[in-house]
Amino acid sequence: MCIWIGIDDTDSNKGGCTTYLGYRIISQLIERGYDIIGYPRLVRLNPNIPWKTRGNGAVAFRVGRGKGRKILIGEIRGNKIFSYSSEENSQIDIDDIKALVEREIESFAFLSDENTNSGYVMTKEKPDRSLYETCVKGIAYLDDVIKILDSLGAIYRGYKNGRGLIGASAAVSWEPIDRTFEIITYRYREKWGTGRDVDKISVIEMDKTINSTFDNYDYDNDRVLITPNSPCPILFGIRGENPDDLFKAKDMIRSEDYEGWIIFETNQGTDDHIERKKIIDIKPYESVIVEGVIEKDPYTIKGGHVIFSVKDETSSIDCTAYEPTKNFRDIVRKLRVGDVVEVYGGVREEPFTINIEKIRIKKLVRIKKKVENPICDNCRIHMKSLGRDKGYRCRRCGAIKSEDEAKFEILERGLREGFYEVPPCARRHLSKPLKRFVS
Ligand code: ATP
Repeated sequence: MCIWIGIDDTDSNKGGCTTYLGYRIISQLIERGYDIIGYPRLVRLNPNIPWKTRGNGAVAFRVGRGKGRKILIGEIRGNKIFSYSSEENSQIDIDDIKALVEREIESFAFLSDENTNSGYVMTKEKPDRSLYETCVKGIAYLDDVIKILDSLGAIYRGYKNGRGLIGASAAVSWEPIDRTFEIITYRYREKWGTGRDVDKISVIEMDKTINSTFDNYDYDNDRVLITPNSPCPILFGIRGENPDDLFKAKDMIRSEDYEGWIIFETNQGTDDHIERKKIIDIKPYESVIVEGVIEKDPYTIKGGHVIFSVKDETSSIDCTAYEPTKNFRDIVRKLRVGDVVEVYGGVREEPFTINIEKIRIKKLVRIKKKVENPICDNCRIHMKSLGRDKGYRCRRCGAIKSEDEAKFEILERGLREGFYEVPPCARRHLSKPLKRFVS
């Protein structure tokens, strides 16, 4: 017999990390003779919900007795942690596992923080993948999740307002269609909250060597991206396409010593959160792909955010490249009325706007710029404009010419059709980097 365990909402802005709790529980389960089946999972959920702490991540893993291929998934204080490729049909002590999970949550979750509402789920049967779909794309309600858990005969507990049960259950229900991996290292406890010692040069070398990794370093903005900014136990996390390359990548990083590491299978970098929509159907907190025509030229507001408006046959909506998207805004500023674009991004409620993650320019309009008034055929002098779109008249002989007989130049747009993305430093966990698009 095998059970899935899901955990969420254990950290706060002051510290903690649900992946760390997962790593602790997994290593203790293995010490007690249980096995992990497959890779542990780090599942990111709707990035637009207002009550997330940071990246809206939840953790899930499968426990039982393993057989088949042994898979290296981590290390704690020098001891390697393995999982198994398949499960054996034998009994496990659910009460023992439950007690361990509760003890760990109660001692490591930041339950004293008013926004931390931890939850865990233990279930033999996974909730349907549709729960994951709802939680990654929209909003789920605790009552509905509890009904699902009861119908599966799951064991669960929600602390305080119990909201963590939503993410915990959704993480268990994830069935990867696309997936990536992240290898995460954890600091010694005495180092928590202090500055991280991770050598930038080694991060750049690793980034240039291990091509299947992504979002390690932002070259334009000179930012190391593998280290978090919060006081959490993570030293660094490297994202990539496959575990073997991530082991090599981790070993290339020169840093302070760390207590251990673990590798997660994740939905990061998959665009799982995004859905193609007509503008009229867009609701706050969703993430969408919208195709339309630029209706209003971009303009910059206080704070450096750049806004344009796009319309399709149903309605129109504002799209914003926020200040943290840095040089991406220079691309957005070059868009003009009539350009056809596909905008990818999360929908904010107030102001109602799409927070742009990527943009595909499908068609650039040809913009003609007048450079010279027409010349009169009789008098060989420049003719005078009769006003906007009214044509031209010769001052001397009174001859008339139409508007399009002036001399025009096609404006150099400084932009090509194709995909553009925000820089890695502004990327959302779920957003698929262009590097992962197969051309
Ligand atoms: P973590 O702490 O796990 O790293 P985080 O800090 O960004 O992630 P949480 O503290 O987990 O965010 O807070 C998110 C809360 O929102 C959790 O209680 C989770 O169950 C809940 N939640 C996540 N996605 C949804 C959703 N789509 N609808 C409703 N509630 C959600």
